[in-house]
Amino acid sequence: MRTVTLINGDGIGPEISDAVVKIIEASGLKIDWDVQTAGEDVIEKEGVPLPERVINSIKKNKIALKAPVTTPIGKGFRSVNVQLRKTLDLYANLRPCKNLPNVKTRFDNVDIVVVRENTEDLYAGIERQPDEDTAESIKIITRKASERICKFAFDYALQNGRKEVCVVTKANIMKLSDGMFLECYRKVAENYPQIKKREILVDNLCMQLVQKPEQFDVLVLPNLYGDIVSDLCAGLIGGLGVAQGANIGLDYAVFEPVHGSAPDIKGQNKANPTALLLSAIEMLRYIKENTYAEKIERALFKTLESGICTPDLGGNCSTTEFRDALISNL
Ligand code: ATP
Repeated sequence: MRTVTLINGDGIGPEISDAVVKIIEASGLKIDWDVQTAGEDVIEKEGVPLPERVINSIKKNKIALKAPVTTPIGKGFRSVNVQLRKTLDLYANLRPCKNLPNVKTRFDNVDIVVVRENTEDLYAGIERQPDEDTAESIKIITRKASERICKFAFDYALQNGRKEVCVVTKANIMKLSDGMFLECYRKVAENYPQIKKREILVDNLCMQLVQKPEQFDVLVLPNLYGDIVSDLCAGLIGGLGVAQGANIGLDYAVFEPVHGSAPDIKGQNKANPTALLLSAIEMLRYIKENTYAEKIERALFKTLESGICTPDLGGNCSTTEFRDALISNL
């Protein structure tokens, strides 16, 4: 039996992770969950929101499913998410964005996978203020990180039956930094004759995405553009309640929804577990449990198709009613 670290988070985290664990259990797949608490609720007892035992558990099991964890504002703690990505070198942020049945959006043919570089660019956080009226941020792009993210995107495309990998930069202006990212893409692309190539500038991409999103397949981007574009793509398919994600490195992978811990609806049994469930389905594919991934996905689609959904999608089901309807569709 596969052991997977489960971080059930805080806010709505425990409610949605409980639903997801029960759905996976009902599918017939046996997973040994190594449950780890993190976030605001553990600070009092352990002094930090991300105790070492959580990291050790992921290092041991290699895979984690993570519900949202609140980073307390203004208490001097580093973001739990950023800390996990850094400590485990989770260099690829993966966000598949695909329309779901019955989730009304402007477009009904979106099927985009955003692959965002997760470790450098302006996110390296190297800033200074040489004088009172000037602030500088340094954009770091390295060949090593650029090549490995481009390779990740092409491998993902190959393994998941995708046809094209499009690189997104502003290399006409940022000739050195984005220029290097583009150069790395071109070099890596040579090893994938089966996959179509495309290059686009980030401003043009944004316009095209809100006009004709169906033309895009896999996108690979440096960190900052990736951050912005992946939220744009989440918006195209219905927003936070359905936006899944994963942070993947060479040794470890953490699957998590895009949304935060939604303290405003905590404990009210109305959070949508879909984003975490979709992240879990992607996790199952990653650990080669494709049969179960597909079974659960079909049950999810069937549930949504029959109009059963939580209030964020316009429905009137509670988290547990949605969970039970999905389980009966399995
Ligand atoms: P963070 O800074 O932790 O990422 P955030 O400020 O982006 O958090 P979220 O916690 O993601 O905010 O919530 C934003 C809004 O979306 C809130 O009103 C919240 O209730 C709603 N929301 C987020 N996730 C869900 C969900 N799974 N189901 C229903 N509503 C949600």
